[in-house]
Amino acid sequence: MTADQTAEWGKEGPKDACGVFGVFAPSEHAAKLCYYGLYALQHRGQESAGIAVSDGTSILVTKEMGLVNQVFDDGGLDALEGHLGIGHVRYSTTGASTWDNAQPTFRSTPGGHVISLGHNGNLTNTRFLSGQLQDLRSARAAALRAGGILDQLAELPGDKCSSDSDLLSALISETRDELSDGGTMEALQQVLPNVDGAFSLVVMDETTIYGARDPQGVRPLVIGRLKSGGWVIASETAALDIVGASRVRDVEPGEVVAINADGFTTARFADARPKSCVFEYIYVARPDHMTEETTIYGARRRMGELLAEEAPVQADLVIPVPDSGLAAAGGYSAASGIPYAEGLTKNRYVGRTFIQPTQSLRQLGIRLKLNPIVDIIEGKRLVVVDDSIVRGNTSRQLIQMLKTAGASEVHLRITAPPIKWPCFYGIDFPTRAELIAGGLAVEEIRTFLRADSLAYLSMDGLIETTKLPASKLCMACLDGNYPIPVEELQRKDGKAVMATLFDQA
Ligand code: SF4
Repeated sequence: MTADQTAEWGKEGPKDACGVFGVFAPSEHAAKLCYYGLYALQHRGQESAGIAVSDGTSILVTKEMGLVNQVFDDGGLDALEGHLGIGHVRYSTTGASTWDNAQPTFRSTPGGHVISLGHNGNLTNTRFLSGQLQDLRSARAAALRAGGILDQLAELPGDKCSSDSDLLSALISETRDELSDGGTMEALQQVLPNVDGAFSLVVMDETTIYGARDPQGVRPLVIGRLKSGGWVIASETAALDIVGASRVRDVEPGEVVAINADGFTTARFADARPKSCVFEYIYVARPDHMTEETTIYGARRRMGELLAEEAPVQADLVIPVPDSGLAAAGGYSAASGIPYAEGLTKNRYVGRTFIQPTQSLRQLGIRLKLNPIVDIIEGKRLVVVDDSIVRGNTSRQLIQMLKTAGASEVHLRITAPPIKWPCFYGIDFPTRAELIAGGLAVEEIRTFLRADSLAYLSMDGLIETTKLPASKLCMACLDGNYPIPVEELQRKDGKAVMATLFDQA
């Protein structure tokens, strides 16, 4: 099933990125901690899940397509023995949605080095990095030929990488082979300064887990401490909470940390140029995630309050589009004095692994995910609070559904400015041509949606809710100012470039 097909019959919100988790916990079962951590991060990716563990001597990886609780059972987790591990849940933004591309990746080299890696984000200079890997392999082959070590020549890796994350794994492991006395930490410090794009990484070798974040820190990555003294690295604080870890701090943009039996070490591979993804606040992260400045819930509630100030309307009820509209609708209601009600029921069990509906069922569209509660909305003037409008088809269906159910007016309020540009850093928006705000003005969108009124949160309002200055935010999908360079070809047609570089269907 493609993302486009999903959009036809489900809510067509922005597609999430990925979630990563890592743990170093002597005397504990790392795989079980990873399982619970990934469970808390399931909203970030539902296509595949995987865990890699080590007992200090060798790495074992289990990964499969499906949700965390479909991929792992008690027996499978028990078999993954070890006190350090990393885990990953995936939504594909680069590389096809196949088992090969499920993570953590696993790479072993002729030099006997093994690494496993989990990546949240999207790299933007994969053509350059692919060239670097080829150069590395050519130089290695030339050295072996010159030294007459022909038996090792056949063992050199020559495979094509299957995704940007697999390419990064190959670069790190093969760079480590070239370092005479360096370890994975040195390889990371050598490779990462050349990598462009968004990457929040968990990496492991047999003895150590590593966490690293791109110099912009586009995607979140937070460090926590277990009561037992162990360490956790995770995409969101909800994954710390679920395993009883307390938050220590974020992995800083441009920083790599290492945790092993010798303790915690840190190094910087680039200066920090922070540009946090504003869509983590609007849609991606769980409301209970805590950034260093605010909770996501607090930011979303403030979005609703500001929308009420910026775009007031005479109405009888404020209703959220669950789930990401919940906090904002509460804020709109409190600031406007208009009563709040839950007028839509969400089927929480419709996910990406839902069986593809027949044509007649697909025509039900949004009803597979959301259903109105007629008693609540009949005869009412509604303020409907949602997080975003992507193509517009779902919002149009939603408004139609509410009016059919008896709403006398529907006033749509969106907790973000219009999405006009695609994202190259790990959130899967459609192309600019498919984004409704890419070509239409607000009033034209309102007409298409058949809403009685439509208003988006202002850019200034959105920035205020994050408690960060605009200079520390990526808002490229809203304003077109991309903070990280994107290879020209990739910008034109990212999917075509990926198909050339990687084995993509
Ligand atoms: S372009 Fe938009 S979705 Fe992508 S990283 Fe920037 S703010 Fe986030």
